[in-house]
Amino acid sequence: MPTLSDYRRLVVKVGSSLLVDEQGRLNRTWLESLVSDLASLVRSGHQVVVVSSGAIAIGCETLGISKARARLDDLQASAAVGQIQLMHTYQAILGEHGLAAAQVLMTPDDTENRRRFLNARRTFGKLLERSVVPIVNENDTVATTEIRYGDNDRLAARIAQLVMADALVLLSDVDGLYTADPRSSEGSEHVPDVTSINDAVLAMAGEAGTGFGTGGMRTKVMAARIATHAGCSTIIASGTIENPLRSLADGARCTVFHASGTPAIARKQWLAGVLEVPGELRLDDGAISALRDGGSLLPVGVTSVAGEFGRGDVVALKNAGGVEIGRGLAEYTSEEVSQLLGCQSAQIEARLGYRGRSVLVHRDELVVFENERN
Ligand code: GLU
Repeated sequence: MPTLSDYRRLVVKVGSSLLVDEQGRLNRTWLESLVSDLASLVRSGHQVVVVSSGAIAIGCETLGISKARARLDDLQASAAVGQIQLMHTYQAILGEHGLAAAQVLMTPDDTENRRRFLNARRTFGKLLERSVVPIVNENDTVATTEIRYGDNDRLAARIAQLVMADALVLLSDVDGLYTADPRSSEGSEHVPDVTSINDAVLAMAGEAGTGFGTGGMRTKVMAARIATHAGCSTIIASGTIENPLRSLADGARCTVFHASGTPAIARKQWLAGVLEVPGELRLDDGAISALRDGGSLLPVGVTSVAGEFGRGDVVALKNAGGVEIGRGLAEYTSEEVSQLLGCQSAQIEARLGYRGRSVLVHRDELVVFENERN
């Protein structure tokens, strides 16, 4: 069982059932214990992102709306009211530990559209660099039934992928996966480790919506599938006790879905396998050796651009002889790149007339091939 200290960047998902009681009142004592665990992690050099539910439940209580009978617009209005209370509480408690909270409300477009994905990733990176704790939720006030993540397990997995977390912790009212629903099947056994999410594991999790626990075990296993493919190990653990993360670090029972690689490897594999590569950049030798040393691609090292692409599209990186040496996600459109060829990063603003990113391809968003491809 890996301890939490093995992970550098963690996403912790908190389900509504832990945060809010049956009447929709926030369970502040429990939240204080969770935040104290988060603060210890941050103090010992970890970066943490929280995905927190609870907005709708809290808002329904404030507005006197019955959650069970509420219509979509009632839920959207409740989310607007509840979200601010939720954030206020996180902010106050994190503040007691000397930490700042940041609210991030997401819609699926923010993770599925590459341009927005890149924007969101940079913002999270900046927040984490400054030891801020981002508190994420679905933007329920504008989300509709068709356009939403649907459940915060899935949202948390997408966030883990977005921030390249190495661990995703799903805290709920169950302490992991069982071979069958422990409430109805006698003799069902706890599963401590999962190395492959195959049909047998999916069968243990039950059908969608019928699993046990908030959101169901099925949604948790599906979230684990998204995260482990992105190189992020996923832990399902119980949050029904105070200081749930400390307990986990002390060896509390949980299920770990092990990722086979790291987030960086998963990212590079994905990039290498992308079929749609709408553009190409020719690089000089200086730029190529900078990339091989782990640097980003700066405009000064690019001699020509071909194809039409937008920000976030994949571009082939070629040497002077036209051999593809790698590829990456463009930070600028093809039109912008053509204005930036050979320019120093400090001159980008003068050339474009607005301030953009200082690199054409960021080092986290590129792969350099071991063997050059033709
Ligand atoms: N985003 C919802 C809320 O804050 C919760 C969704 C979920 O728990 O899966 O109330």
